[in-house]
Amino acid sequence: MTKQFPQALSIAGSDSGGGAGMQADLKTIQQRHVFAATVLVAITAQNTLGVQQALPLSAAMIDAQFASVAADLEIKACKTGMLADVDQVTAVVRNLKKYDLGPLTVDPVMIAKGGAPLLSEAAVATVRDLLLPLATLATPNLPEAEKLTGATIHTEADMAQAAKALQQIGVKNVIIKGGHFNDNAESNDFVLLEDGSNFWLTSPRIDTINTHGTGDTLSACITAELAKGTPMAEAIRIGKAFVEAAIQDGIVVGHGHGPLNHWA
Ligand code: PLP
Repeated sequence: MTKQFPQALSIAGSDSGGGAGMQADLKTIQQRHVFAATVLVAITAQNTLGVQQALPLSAAMIDAQFASVAADLEIKACKTGMLADVDQVTAVVRNLKKYDLGPLTVDPVMIAKGGAPLLSEAAVATVRDLLLPLATLATPNLPEAEKLTGATIHTEADMAQAAKALQQIGVKNVIIKGGHFNDNAESNDFVLLEDGSNFWLTSPRIDTINTHGTGDTLSACITAELAKGTPMAEAIRIGKAFVEAAIQDGIVVGHGHGPLNHWA
């Protein structure tokens, strides 16, 4: 028997190594029993050791992919990942305004763990001023939240303040991922919801180098849940639990920062 499936869209860059980016999104969305479509924004030649090359796609090609997907599929939620540069961010914003693709999760990816830039310096302001106001949810880590708000984040009170600042930019719901506080035994994420309520997501810090694609996996899992109609707070909790299990029950792939276990 055939059945109507919830459909989600990943707007992101490709990771040839399979652990992060578009590939992590596809594996995660599939695992949540949601159909995944894609708008590819950039191609990277990459493995667990780092990013060897990156090629942003043209605005015209980005427009064409959005047009093809929107003309045929019924996308219920979407997310952005690596957006490369000003031209690509501008094209993505134009298309997000043109088509109804459901709630938008913005993972404001800037720098890969190995240090490679995934968003140009010039495009940070474009993301802040044009993309974030469209976001139903944004999922910055601490360095990304600092860049987007101009604030310095040293404490958990600073995290809460930065989340408020992001709401003032126009983001409806915010998760600030606290994983970059190196000295904490726990990884605490701060969640601020549209109605002003907030909560912390606490998980033990797991001692592993296999965390490549963690942010992509979190935002993709939440996007899949939103496509099913799961309420925001529950979608966020499911996302956090999915990532935690995927890190904890690790697999060994490659010789560097390995990927998560999306089957966990
Ligand atoms: N490569 C691509 C294409 C990505 O989109 C991302 C993250 O969004 C990464 C690499 C970074 O992966 P990580 O920093 O988890 O190693």
